[in-house]
Amino acid sequence: MIFSSRRLLLLFSLCIVVMQGVLGVWLVRHFSQRRAQLDRDITTALEAADLQEILRRALNERVGTNLLLYLPATTELLEITHRQSPSRELTLELQRTLHASLDSWLTISPATTDSLLQSNLSVLHLPLSYELRLLDFDRGETLHRVYHCPPRPFYLPPPNFQTAPADTLYLDSERLQAYVLRRESVAPFVLLEMLPLLLLCGALAATGVGLMWLLMRRAETEIALRDFTRNITHELKTPIAVALAAHEAIIDFGVDADPSRLRRLLETSRRQLRHLAALVEQVLAVHRSDTASFVLCRERIEVHSLLSRIEDEHRLKAGKPLTLRVEVTPPDLVLLADATHLYNVVSNLVDNAVKYSLSQADVEIRAYRDVGRGRVVFAVSDRGMGIAARHRRAVFRRFFRVPQGDCHDTRGYGLGLFYVRRVVELHGGRIRLDSTPGRGSTFTFWLPES
Ligand code: ADP
Repeated sequence: MIFSSRRLLLLFSLCIVVMQGVLGVWLVRHFSQRRAQLDRDITTALEAADLQEILRRALNERVGTNLLLYLPATTELLEITHRQSPSRELTLELQRTLHASLDSWLTISPATTDSLLQSNLSVLHLPLSYELRLLDFDRGETLHRVYHCPPRPFYLPPPNFQTAPADTLYLDSERLQAYVLRRESVAPFVLLEMLPLLLLCGALAATGVGLMWLLMRRAETEIALRDFTRNITHELKTPIAVALAAHEAIIDFGVDADPSRLRRLLETSRRQLRHLAALVEQVLAVHRSDTASFVLCRERIEVHSLLSRIEDEHRLKAGKPLTLRVEVTPPDLVLLADATHLYNVVSNLVDNAVKYSLSQADVEIRAYRDVGRGRVVFAVSDRGMGIAARHRRAVFRRFFRVPQGDCHDTRGYGLGLFYVRRVVELHGGRIRLDSTPGRGSTFTFWLPES
Protein backbone atom coordinates (compact mmCIF):
# COMPACT_ATOMS: atom_id res chain seq x y z
CA MET A 1 0.00 0.00 0.00
CA ILE A 2 2.78 2.45 1.05
CA PHE A 3 4.94 1.18 -1.74
CA SER A 4 2.20 1.74 -4.30
CA SER A 5 1.54 5.23 -2.94
CA ARG A 6 5.21 6.16 -3.25
CA ARG A 7 5.41 4.70 -6.73
CA LEU A 8 2.27 6.60 -7.67
CA LEU A 9 3.75 9.80 -6.28
CA LEU A 10 6.98 9.28 -8.20
CA LEU A 11 5.15 8.49 -11.43
CA PHE A 12 2.84 11.43 -11.01
CA SER A 13 5.69 13.84 -10.22
CA LEU A 14 7.56 12.61 -13.27
CA CYS A 15 4.47 13.09 -15.48
CA ILE A 16 3.96 16.61 -14.15
CA VAL A 17 7.61 17.57 -14.64
CA VAL A 18 7.62 16.18 -18.20
CA MET A 19 4.26 17.78 -19.01
CA GLN A 20 5.31 21.15 -17.64
CA GLY A 21 8.63 20.91 -19.49
CA VAL A 22 6.95 20.14 -22.83
CA LEU A 23 4.36 22.84 -22.25
CA GLY A 24 7.07 25.35 -21.29
CA VAL A 25 9.10 24.62 -24.44
CA TRP A 26 5.97 24.86 -26.57
CA LEU A 27 4.98 28.18 -24.97
CA VAL A 28 8.44 29.69 -25.51
CA ARG A 29 8.45 28.54 -29.15
CA HIS A 30 4.94 29.82 -29.72
CA PHE A 31 5.90 33.17 -28.18
CA SER A 32 9.01 33.66 -30.32
CA GLN A 33 7.24 32.49 -33.51
CA ARG A 34 4.32 34.85 -32.96
CA ARG A 35 6.69 37.69 -32.13
CA ALA A 36 8.74 37.11 -35.29
CA GLN A 37 5.52 36.92 -37.31
CA LEU A 38 4.30 40.29 -35.95
CA ASP A 39 7.73 41.87 -36.57
CA ARG A 40 7.52 40.66 -40.18
CA ASP A 41 3.95 41.95 -40.51
CA ILE A 42 5.04 45.42 -39.34
CA THR A 43 7.92 45.51 -41.84
CA THR A 44 5.51 44.44 -44.58
CA ALA A 45 3.02 47.12 -43.48
CA LEU A 46 5.71 49.80 -43.96
CA GLU A 47 6.75 48.45 -47.35
CA ALA A 48 3.12 48.23 -48.46
CA ALA A 49 2.43 51.79 -47.22
CA ASP A 50 5.36 53.07 -49.28
CA LEU A 51 4.18 51.25 -52.39
CA GLN A 52 0.61 52.44 -51.91
CA GLU A 53 1.91 56.00 -51.51
CA ILE A 54 3.77 55.79 -54.87
CA LEU A 55 0.70 54.46 -56.66
CA ARG A 56 -1.58 57.00 -55.00
CA ARG A 57 0.76 59.85 -56.02
CA ALA A 58 0.83 58.66 -59.58
CA LEU A 59 -2.94 58.23 -59.80
CA ASN A 60 -3.69 61.53 -58.04
CA GLU A 61 -1.60 63.42 -60.56
CA ARG A 62 -3.53 61.66 -63.37
CA VAL A 63 -0.30 60.50 -64.94
CA GLY A 64 -0.92 56.85 -64.38
CA THR A 65 -1.24 56.01 -68.08
CA ASN A 66 1.91 57.93 -68.94
CA LEU A 67 3.70 56.23 -66.18
CA LEU A 68 2.81 52.88 -67.61
CA LEU A 69 4.37 54.04 -70.85
CA TYR A 70 7.48 55.67 -69.42
CA LEU A 71 8.13 53.30 -66.61
CA PRO A 72 8.08 49.73 -67.78
CA ALA A 73 8.79 48.62 -64.25
CA THR A 74 5.36 49.77 -63.11
CA THR A 75 3.47 47.14 -65.05
CA GLU A 76 5.72 44.43 -63.78
CA LEU A 77 5.40 45.78 -60.27
CA LEU A 78 1.61 45.85 -60.42
CA GLU A 79 1.60 42.34 -61.78
CA ILE A 80 3.93 41.09 -59.08
CA THR A 81 1.95 42.71 -56.26
CA HIS A 82 -1.18 40.98 -57.54
CA ARG A 83 0.48 37.61 -57.36
CA GLN A 84 0.06 35.43 -54.29
CA SER A 85 3.65 35.56 -53.07
CA PRO A 86 5.87 37.90 -55.00
CA SER A 87 9.57 37.84 -54.28
CA ARG A 88 10.12 40.47 -51.61
CA GLU A 89 13.52 41.54 -52.88
CA LEU A 90 12.21 41.93 -56.40
CA THR A 91 9.26 43.99 -55.20
CA LEU A 92 11.58 46.23 -53.19
CA GLU A 93 13.89 46.65 -56.15
CA LEU A 94 10.98 47.66 -58.38
CA GLN A 95 9.73 49.96 -55.62
CA ARG A 96 13.13 51.67 -55.54
CA THR A 97 13.11 51.96 -59.35
CA LEU A 98 9.73 53.65 -59.11
CA HIS A 99 11.05 56.05 -56.50
CA ALA A 100 14.04 56.90 -58.68
CA SER A 101 11.80 57.61 -61.66
CA LEU A 102 8.95 59.38 -59.88
CA ASP A 103 10.33 61.29 -56.87
CA SER A 104 12.21 63.88 -59.00
CA TRP A 105 9.03 65.20 -60.64
CA LEU A 106 6.32 64.22 -58.11
CA THR A 107 7.37 65.06 -54.57
CA ILE A 108 7.27 62.18 -52.13
CA SER A 109 4.57 62.48 -49.41
CA PRO A 110 5.73 60.95 -46.13
CA ALA A 111 2.48 62.11 -44.43
CA THR A 112 0.52 59.90 -46.85
CA THR A 113 2.89 57.00 -46.19
CA ASP A 114 2.31 57.51 -42.47
CA SER A 115 -1.48 57.50 -42.72
CA LEU A 116 -1.31 54.40 -44.96
CA LEU A 117 1.02 52.76 -42.45
CA GLN A 118 -1.44 53.54 -39.67
CA SER A 119 -4.30 51.92 -41.54
CA ASN A 120 -2.11 48.88 -42.41
CA LEU A 121 -1.15 48.51 -38.75
CA SER A 122 -4.77 48.81 -37.61
CA VAL A 123 -5.44 45.50 -39.42
CA LEU A 124 -2.96 43.87 -37.02
CA HIS A 125 -4.95 45.19 -34.01
CA LEU A 126 -1.83 46.47 -32.27
CA PRO A 127 -2.08 49.82 -30.44
CA LEU A 128 1.60 50.23 -31.32
CA SER A 129 3.55 53.40 -30.47
CA TYR A 130 6.04 54.32 -33.17
CA GLU A 131 8.13 57.04 -34.72
CA LEU A 132 8.44 57.33 -38.52
CA ARG A 133 11.21 59.37 -40.03
CA LEU A 134 12.16 60.11 -43.61
CA LEU A 135 15.93 60.51 -43.65
CA ASP A 136 18.21 61.95 -46.28
CA PHE A 137 21.62 60.39 -45.62
CA ASP A 138 23.25 62.38 -48.37
CA ARG A 139 22.43 65.73 -46.77
CA GLY A 140 22.31 64.34 -43.27
CA GLU A 141 18.77 65.66 -42.72
CA THR A 142 15.51 64.41 -41.33
CA LEU A 143 12.97 65.36 -43.99
CA HIS A 144 9.93 64.26 -42.02
CA ARG A 145 9.26 63.01 -38.54
CA VAL A 146 6.04 61.85 -36.96
CA TYR A 147 5.36 60.20 -33.62
CA HIS A 148 2.29 58.13 -32.66
CA CYS A 149 1.31 56.97 -29.22
CA PRO A 150 -2.24 55.56 -29.40
CA PRO A 151 -4.26 55.04 -26.21
CA ARG A 152 -3.32 51.71 -24.68
CA PRO A 153 -4.93 49.47 -22.05
CA PHE A 154 -3.84 50.39 -18.51
CA TYR A 155 -2.40 46.90 -17.87
CA LEU A 156 0.23 47.29 -20.61
CA PRO A 157 3.58 48.82 -19.59
CA PRO A 158 4.42 52.24 -21.12
CA PRO A 159 6.27 51.94 -24.45
CA ASN A 160 10.02 51.69 -24.07
CA PHE A 161 11.81 53.45 -26.92
CA GLN A 162 15.26 52.93 -25.37
CA THR A 163 15.44 49.44 -26.79
CA ALA A 164 13.01 50.02 -29.65
CA PRO A 165 13.56 47.86 -32.73
CA ALA A 166 13.89 49.80 -36.01
CA ASP A 167 12.93 48.99 -39.61
CA THR A 168 14.80 50.80 -42.40
CA LEU A 169 13.25 50.94 -45.84
CA TYR A 170 15.68 52.38 -48.43
CA LEU A 171 14.01 54.34 -51.19
CA ASP A 172 16.89 54.11 -53.70
CA SER A 173 19.58 51.66 -54.61
CA GLU A 174 22.36 54.03 -53.47
CA ARG A 175 20.80 54.11 -50.00
CA LEU A 176 20.60 57.88 -49.86
CA GLN A 177 17.05 58.12 -48.57
CA ALA A 178 15.10 55.84 -46.26
CA TYR A 179 12.09 55.56 -44.04
CA VAL A 180 13.15 54.59 -40.52
CA LEU A 181 10.43 53.16 -38.32
CA ARG A 182 11.31 53.01 -34.61
CA ARG A 183 8.68 51.24 -32.57
CA GLU A 184 8.01 49.58 -29.27
CA SER A 185 8.50 45.86 -28.93
CA VAL A 186 5.57 43.60 -29.75
CA ALA A 187 6.44 41.27 -26.84
CA PRO A 188 3.80 42.69 -24.41
CA PHE A 189 1.11 42.34 -27.10
CA VAL A 190 2.10 38.74 -27.76
CA LEU A 191 2.01 37.99 -24.04
CA LEU A 192 -1.43 39.59 -23.80
CA GLU A 193 -2.62 37.50 -26.73
CA MET A 194 -1.29 34.37 -25.00
CA LEU A 195 -2.78 35.27 -21.62
CA PRO A 196 -5.64 32.68 -21.68
CA LEU A 197 -3.11 30.03 -22.64
CA LEU A 198 -0.70 31.11 -19.91
CA LEU A 199 -3.52 31.11 -17.35
CA LEU A 200 -4.55 27.63 -18.43
CA CYS A 201 -0.98 26.38 -18.09
CA GLY A 202 -0.70 28.06 -14.69
CA ALA A 203 -3.93 26.40 -13.56
CA LEU A 204 -2.64 23.03 -14.81
CA ALA A 205 0.64 23.51 -12.94
CA ALA A 206 -1.20 24.52 -9.76
CA THR A 207 -3.47 21.48 -10.04
CA GLY A 208 -0.47 19.23 -10.54
CA VAL A 209 1.34 20.65 -7.54
CA GLY A 210 -1.84 20.38 -5.44
CA LEU A 211 -2.31 16.74 -6.40
CA MET A 212 1.34 16.02 -5.66
CA TRP A 213 0.94 17.62 -2.25
CA LEU A 214 -2.14 15.48 -1.57
CA LEU A 215 -0.32 12.33 -2.60
CA MET A 216 2.63 13.25 -0.40
CA ARG A 217 0.29 13.76 2.54
CA ARG A 218 -1.30 10.42 1.79
CA ALA A 219 2.06 8.65 1.73
CA GLU A 220 3.04 10.35 5.00
CA THR A 221 -0.23 9.30 6.65
CA GLU A 222 0.24 5.75 5.46
CA ILE A 223 3.70 5.60 7.01
CA ALA A 224 2.44 7.18 10.24
CA LEU A 225 -0.50 4.75 10.35
CA ARG A 226 1.84 1.80 9.83
CA ASP A 227 4.01 3.00 12.72
CA PHE A 228 0.94 3.53 14.88
CA THR A 229 -0.37 0.02 14.19
CA ARG A 230 3.04 -1.47 14.97
CA ASN A 231 3.38 0.51 18.21
CA ILE A 232 -0.14 -0.04 19.49
CA THR A 233 -0.02 -3.76 18.70
CA HIS A 234 3.19 -4.04 20.65
CA GLU A 235 1.69 -2.00 23.51
CA LEU A 236 -1.46 -4.15 23.61
CA LYS A 237 0.41 -7.44 23.43
CA THR A 238 2.54 -6.79 26.52
CA PRO A 239 -0.21 -6.43 29.19
CA ILE A 240 -2.23 -9.22 27.60
CA ALA A 241 0.79 -11.55 27.73
CA VAL A 242 1.62 -10.63 31.35
CA ALA A 243 -1.99 -11.01 32.56
CA LEU A 244 -2.24 -14.32 30.69
CA ALA A 245 0.97 -15.59 32.27
CA ALA A 246 -0.28 -14.61 35.74
CA HIS A 247 -3.54 -16.49 35.19
CA GLU A 248 -1.72 -19.54 33.82
CA ALA A 249 0.52 -19.54 36.88
CA ILE A 250 -2.54 -19.47 39.14
CA ILE A 251 -4.24 -22.33 37.31
CA ASP A 252 -1.22 -24.50 36.47
CA PHE A 253 0.87 -24.26 39.62
CA GLY A 254 -1.84 -24.46 42.27
CA VAL A 255 -1.03 -21.36 44.24
CA ASP A 256 -4.07 -21.93 46.58
CA ALA A 257 -1.66 -22.99 49.28
CA ASP A 258 0.27 -19.70 49.02
CA PRO A 259 -2.29 -16.86 49.38
CA SER A 260 0.37 -14.12 49.28
CA ARG A 261 1.69 -15.42 45.93
CA LEU A 262 -1.86 -15.70 44.63
CA ARG A 263 -2.50 -12.10 45.62
CA ARG A 264 0.73 -10.90 43.96
CA LEU A 265 -0.21 -12.63 40.72
CA LEU A 266 -3.74 -11.24 40.79
CA GLU A 267 -2.42 -7.72 41.45
CA THR A 268 -0.01 -8.03 38.52
CA SER A 269 -2.89 -9.13 36.35
CA ARG A 270 -5.09 -6.25 37.57
CA ARG A 271 -2.32 -3.70 36.90
CA GLN A 272 -1.87 -4.96 33.36
CA LEU A 273 -5.61 -5.00 32.69
CA ARG A 274 -5.91 -1.44 34.01
CA HIS A 275 -3.07 -0.39 31.75
CA LEU A 276 -4.86 -2.09 28.86
CA ALA A 277 -8.14 -0.30 29.71
CA ALA A 278 -6.31 3.08 29.92
CA LEU A 279 -4.71 2.44 26.55
CA VAL A 280 -8.02 1.61 24.89
CA GLU A 281 -9.63 4.62 26.58
CA GLN A 282 -6.85 6.88 25.27
CA VAL A 283 -7.37 5.75 21.68
CA LEU A 284 -11.15 5.99 22.03
CA ALA A 285 -10.90 9.51 23.51
CA VAL A 286 -8.93 10.66 20.47
CA HIS A 287 -11.42 8.99 18.16
CA ARG A 288 -14.36 10.58 19.99
CA SER A 289 -12.74 14.04 19.90
CA ASP A 290 -12.59 13.74 16.12
CA THR A 291 -16.28 13.01 15.62
CA ALA A 292 -19.03 15.53 14.99
CA SER A 293 -20.99 14.27 18.00
CA PHE A 294 -18.18 15.20 20.42
CA VAL A 295 -19.64 17.55 23.04
CA LEU A 296 -17.95 19.48 25.79
CA CYS A 297 -19.42 19.74 29.28
CA ARG A 298 -18.34 23.19 30.36
CA GLU A 299 -18.13 23.89 34.06
CA ARG A 300 -16.43 26.36 36.38
CA ILE A 301 -12.85 25.19 36.97
CA GLU A 302 -10.42 26.44 39.59
CA VAL A 303 -7.24 26.42 37.58
CA HIS A 304 -4.86 26.16 40.55
CA SER A 305 -6.53 23.04 41.94
CA LEU A 306 -6.62 21.40 38.48
CA LEU A 307 -2.92 22.06 37.90
CA SER A 308 -2.03 20.87 41.43
CA ARG A 309 -3.70 17.52 40.73
CA ILE A 310 -1.71 17.20 37.52
CA GLU A 311 1.48 18.13 39.38
CA ASP A 312 0.87 15.44 42.02
CA GLU A 313 0.08 12.78 39.45
CA HIS A 314 3.22 13.43 37.43
CA ARG A 315 5.46 13.63 40.48
CA LEU A 316 4.25 10.15 41.35
CA LYS A 317 4.55 8.56 37.95
CA ALA A 318 7.68 10.26 36.53
CA GLY A 319 10.27 7.59 35.89
CA LYS A 320 13.16 10.09 36.00
CA PRO A 321 14.32 13.02 38.18
CA LEU A 322 11.69 15.74 37.76
CA THR A 323 11.52 19.44 38.68
CA LEU A 324 7.95 20.67 38.20
CA ARG A 325 6.83 24.24 38.86
CA VAL A 326 3.27 25.51 38.71
CA GLU A 327 2.47 29.20 38.55
CA VAL A 328 -1.08 30.56 38.39
CA THR A 329 -1.78 34.29 38.12
CA PRO A 330 -4.00 35.31 39.85
CA PRO A 331 -4.00 32.36 42.23
CA ASP A 332 -7.83 32.24 42.27
CA LEU A 333 -8.05 32.10 38.46
CA VAL A 334 -11.26 30.40 37.27
CA LEU A 335 -12.32 29.32 33.82
CA LEU A 336 -15.39 27.87 32.10
CA ALA A 337 -14.28 24.69 30.28
CA ASP A 338 -14.63 20.91 30.11
CA ALA A 339 -12.75 19.79 33.24
CA THR A 340 -11.98 16.23 32.09
CA HIS A 341 -10.67 17.23 28.69
CA LEU A 342 -8.74 20.25 30.00
CA TYR A 343 -7.11 17.94 32.56
CA ASN A 344 -6.19 15.52 29.75
CA VAL A 345 -4.80 18.34 27.59
CA VAL A 346 -2.43 19.72 30.25
CA SER A 347 -1.58 16.21 31.40
CA ASN A 348 -0.67 15.19 27.84
CA LEU A 349 1.61 18.21 27.47
CA VAL A 350 3.33 17.54 30.80
CA ASP A 351 3.63 13.87 29.89
CA ASN A 352 5.41 14.81 26.66
CA ALA A 353 7.58 17.38 28.45
CA VAL A 354 8.83 14.62 30.77
CA LYS A 355 8.99 11.94 28.06
CA TYR A 356 11.04 14.04 25.64
CA SER A 357 13.52 15.31 28.26
CA LEU A 358 16.53 13.03 28.25
CA SER A 359 17.85 12.16 31.73
CA GLN A 360 16.26 14.85 33.90
CA ALA A 361 13.01 16.72 33.30
CA ASP A 362 12.64 20.40 34.12
CA VAL A 363 9.02 21.37 33.51
CA GLU A 364 7.07 24.56 34.15
CA ILE A 365 3.29 25.01 33.91
CA ARG A 366 2.04 28.58 33.82
CA ALA A 367 -1.53 29.83 33.65
CA TYR A 368 -2.54 33.48 33.56
CA ARG A 369 -5.41 35.70 32.62
CA ASP A 370 -5.06 37.74 29.42
CA VAL A 371 -7.38 40.50 30.61
CA GLY A 372 -7.37 42.52 27.37
CA ARG A 373 -8.58 39.59 25.28
CA GLY A 374 -10.81 37.87 27.81
CA ARG A 375 -8.96 34.59 27.71
CA VAL A 376 -6.84 32.33 29.88
CA VAL A 377 -3.38 31.33 28.66
CA PHE A 378 -1.66 28.07 29.58
CA ALA A 379 2.02 27.43 28.81
CA VAL A 380 3.88 24.15 29.40
CA SER A 381 7.66 24.49 28.99
CA ASP A 382 10.50 22.00 29.17
CA ARG A 383 14.23 21.93 28.57
CA GLY A 384 14.08 18.72 26.62
CA MET A 385 15.20 17.70 23.15
CA GLY A 386 13.03 20.29 21.33
CA ILE A 387 11.43 19.99 17.91
CA ALA A 388 12.96 21.06 14.58
CA ALA A 389 11.12 23.87 12.77
CA ARG A 390 10.10 21.59 9.88
CA HIS A 391 8.09 19.35 12.22
CA ARG A 392 6.36 22.08 14.23
CA ARG A 393 3.09 21.97 12.32
CA ALA A 394 3.19 18.24 11.67
CA VAL A 395 3.35 17.25 15.36
CA PHE A 396 -0.31 18.22 15.68
CA ARG A 397 -1.29 15.80 12.93
CA ARG A 398 -2.79 12.42 13.75
CA PHE A 399 -0.20 9.60 14.08
CA PHE A 400 2.75 11.91 13.40
CA ARG A 401 5.88 11.30 15.47
CA VAL A 402 9.17 13.14 15.00
CA PRO A 403 11.43 10.41 13.53
CA GLN A 404 14.19 10.86 16.14
CA GLY A 405 11.64 10.04 18.86
CA ASP A 406 12.18 6.37 18.19
CA CYS A 407 15.96 6.67 18.66
CA HIS A 408 15.38 7.75 22.24
CA ASP A 409 13.14 4.79 22.82
CA THR A 410 10.15 6.91 23.80
CA ARG A 411 6.83 5.16 23.53
CA GLY A 412 3.95 6.88 21.85
CA TYR A 413 1.35 6.74 19.10
CA GLY A 414 1.35 10.27 17.71
CA LEU A 415 -2.16 10.89 19.02
CA GLY A 416 -1.56 13.10 22.07
CA LEU A 417 -1.00 16.45 20.36
CA PHE A 418 -3.71 15.76 17.79
CA TYR A 419 -6.16 15.29 20.67
CA VAL A 420 -4.78 18.38 22.49
CA ARG A 421 -5.29 20.60 19.45
CA ARG A 422 -8.80 19.23 18.82
CA VAL A 423 -9.91 19.90 22.39
CA VAL A 424 -8.37 23.39 22.46
CA GLU A 425 -10.02 24.29 19.14
CA LEU A 426 -13.38 22.86 20.21
CA HIS A 427 -13.20 25.24 23.17
CA GLY A 428 -12.66 28.09 20.67
CA GLY A 429 -8.98 28.44 21.51
CA ARG A 430 -5.68 28.07 19.67
CA ILE A 431 -2.39 26.29 20.37
CA ARG A 432 1.14 27.35 19.44
CA LEU A 433 4.52 25.67 19.68
CA ASP A 434 7.84 27.45 20.22
CA SER A 435 10.83 25.20 20.25
CA THR A 436 14.60 25.14 19.83
CA PRO A 437 16.15 21.74 19.09
CA GLY A 438 18.37 20.68 21.97
CA ARG A 439 17.08 23.44 24.27
CA GLY A 440 13.43 22.71 24.86
CA SER A 441 9.86 23.48 23.89
CA THR A 442 6.94 25.60 25.04
CA PHE A 443 3.38 24.68 24.12
CA THR A 444 1.12 27.69 24.65
CA PHE A 445 -2.64 27.49 24.31
CA TRP A 446 -5.39 29.91 25.19
CA LEU A 447 -9.06 29.37 25.86
CA PRO A 448 -11.88 31.88 26.17
CA GLU A 449 -12.42 32.72 29.83
CA SER A 450 -16.16 32.10 29.66
P1 ADP B 1 3.50 10.69 21.12
O1 ADP B 1 2.60 9.67 21.66
O2 ADP B 1 4.41 10.18 20.09
O3 ADP B 1 4.22 11.44 22.20
P2 ADP B 1 2.24 13.21 20.52
O4 ADP B 1 1.13 13.53 19.57
O5 ADP B 1 2.02 13.55 21.94
O6 ADP B 1 2.55 11.70 20.31
O7 ADP B 1 3.53 13.96 20.03
C1 ADP B 1 3.90 13.90 18.65
C2 ADP B 1 5.39 13.98 18.52
O8 ADP B 1 5.81 15.32 18.85
C3 ADP B 1 6.15 13.08 19.43
O9 ADP B 1 6.36 11.83 18.83
C4 ADP B 1 7.46 13.82 19.65
O10 ADP B 1 8.36 13.46 18.65
C5 ADP B 1 7.08 15.28 19.50
N1 ADP B 1 6.93 15.96 20.79
C6 ADP B 1 5.80 16.19 21.47
N2 ADP B 1 6.03 16.88 22.60
C7 ADP B 1 7.35 17.11 22.64
C8 ADP B 1 8.24 17.80 23.54
N3 ADP B 1 7.78 18.39 24.67
N4 ADP B 1 9.55 17.83 23.24
C9 ADP B 1 10.03 17.26 22.12
N5 ADP B 1 9.25 16.59 21.22
C10 ADP B 1 7.94 16.52 21.47
